[in-house]
Amino acid sequence: MDFWQIIRRLFPFVKPYKLLITISLFLTLIGAVAAQVNPVVLRYTVDSIEQLIKEGKTAQQSTSLLLFISGILFGKEIINIAVKYGQSMIGERLRVNLSSNLAQHAIEKILTYKYAFFAADENATGKLQTRIDRGAESLTSFVQNIFVDLLPLFANAILALILMFNANFYVGLIASIIMPIYFLLSWRQAGLFKGVRRGLRGLREQKTNGLFNIIESIIVIKSFVREEYERGKQYQLQQNLINAQLKQRKTNYVFDALKTFIEQVGVVLIIILTAYLVLDQQMTIGAIMFHILLFNNVSAPIRQLHRIYDQINEALTYSEGFFEVLDADFAIEESGSLITENLRGEFELKNVDFTYPNGIKALLDVNMTIPAGKTVAFVGLSGAGKSTLLNLLCKFYAPNDGEILLDGKNLQEYDTRLLRRKIGLVLQKNHIFRGSIEENIRYGNMRANFEEVVEATKQAYLHDQIEQLPNKYQNDAQQLSGGQQQRVAIARLFLKNPPIIFLDEPTASLDAIATEQVKNSLDAIKENRTVVIISHSISQIIDSDVIFVLKEGRVVESGTHDELYAKGKTYREIFNASARSLNLDRISKTLEIENTFDTNLK
Ligand code: ADP
Ligand code: MG
Repeated sequence: MDFWQIIRRLFPFVKPYKLLITISLFLTLIGAVAAQVNPVVLRYTVDSIEQLIKEGKTAQQSTSLLLFISGILFGKEIINIAVKYGQSMIGERLRVNLSSNLAQHAIEKILTYKYAFFAADENATGKLQTRIDRGAESLTSFVQNIFVDLLPLFANAILALILMFNANFYVGLIASIIMPIYFLLSWRQAGLFKGVRRGLRGLREQKTNGLFNIIESIIVIKSFVREEYERGKQYQLQQNLINAQLKQRKTNYVFDALKTFIEQVGVVLIIILTAYLVLDQQMTIGAIMFHILLFNNVSAPIRQLHRIYDQINEALTYSEGFFEVLDADFAIEESGSLITENLRGEFELKNVDFTYPNGIKALLDVNMTIPAGKTVAFVGLSGAGKSTLLNLLCKFYAPNDGEILLDGKNLQEYDTRLLRRKIGLVLQKNHIFRGSIEENIRYGNMRANFEEVVEATKQAYLHDQIEQLPNKYQNDAQQLSGGQQQRVAIARLFLKNPPIIFLDEPTASLDAIATEQVKNSLDAIKENRTVVIISHSISQIIDSDVIFVLKEGRVVESGTHDELYAKGKTYREIFNASARSLNLDRISKTLEIENTFDTNLK
């Protein structure tokens, strides 16, 4: 992106602040005029004093002149202060508003994107956040830069240059000849600076991440006694950071010195030329001061140029990533218009093929019917494509080939948001938001009252445990154990009360007792709903109405437990392996002994 593209993209965001900007531009003009007052007044002073000396006047006789001059200088300073104040207030207001508008716009935009967008590697949580934050931040400082630095400084410079040319063409010429040299130097400086700065930023990020990683993995570090190793890694990082910083200082120092030198050359040239012109009686003696001060006005902005240039460069770099996020229109979630009133909840998959955006073929020619109001289980080794199937049924992804029908209509034709209201999804690891337990459960139905929240929590067998927490339902949900968090997710599902339920290994992280409890409450909710369950626990699949066995993206068997077991193929293998892993022999022996014991007692 170049400078003008950014301006064009920013225009809609800045437009609401037209009035502020107009005021700011007006202030800029006043400020530029005020900046020329000093040279003009000084010239006038010197010339008047020279005149007074010639006329043989004393200091007392000149008080009116001195009062007049002081008055103008003070007056100018007051105007200056007011202008500066106004400019920075406007700049600040623009900055704050713009930054929040940009961030809000980005957030609103990405919320409309489909799941696939977030699953893509280049949009991983941290990366996306950095792009949005940095982008908004640097675009904001870009705008602030223009109004607080760039425009005022250049308005000053141009006005000063006009005055110089106006006073004498050659003096103006010298002042303007210095400019390109200056520009060139600043350009080089900013160019060199860019590389160094990028390196520095990378190192700083690594350093922050390094610290973050240490804190996060402290248990692993300590248990493997890797303190020395981590210390060394951090030390090396710090060293690199120090070197890069010193290098940056050095570069800057060299260039600043060069620029000061060139500036001095300019000053000297102007002194010589004006002195000559004064002696030649083409100018009054006040002109020397006049031109030196004006030249200072010309060179001041250029002295800052590398900094401004650098910041603009930074804005260019980051805004690209930012606008890329805003422009990802291809990622906007598709939605049909079919409404989902009175869904029966029958899914039918016909020759469904699906390949993930990264090229992994996850489903091949899948055909199945998930009958309305029944419970269906997907069974298969990990990586078989079970979760992928659920992703497709939730419309997170669309099949590449074939079609998915819901109650006879293509899933793509349904209104996506209405459809999702009808689907309850519980995953193996469910997201718990920062906030209280109550808030987290209420996410299932924002309008639910507290009694309903409690009722759902009871169904998920979580209520009694919450009652024992110090703040009960107001406790931080993220402090709950994995199994408890899982039941928060299930309570959320109960509160949502959808006609279609997808469960992806819902009890994988629960202990045995919780698993049994959750199974009971899930069994209770299954009535008259379409339920798809993925589970490794035999007990949960065994009494499903239909079981689909997946292998490497294909459905290889389907039927009831008894049918599939009798077939003696993949399902039986998986079933037997699960049974063996449970050590059923030993378990049944224990249970037998207990039974005999019980019988003996009777
Ligand atoms: P299961 O749930 O049966 O264990 P999945 O449906 O999660 O299996 O995965 C099926 C295949 O798709 C695997 O090869 C897996 O690596 C791949 N896969 C899963 N999720 C993604 C994703 N977001 N992007 C790319 N490939 C994926
Ligand atoms: Mg899975």
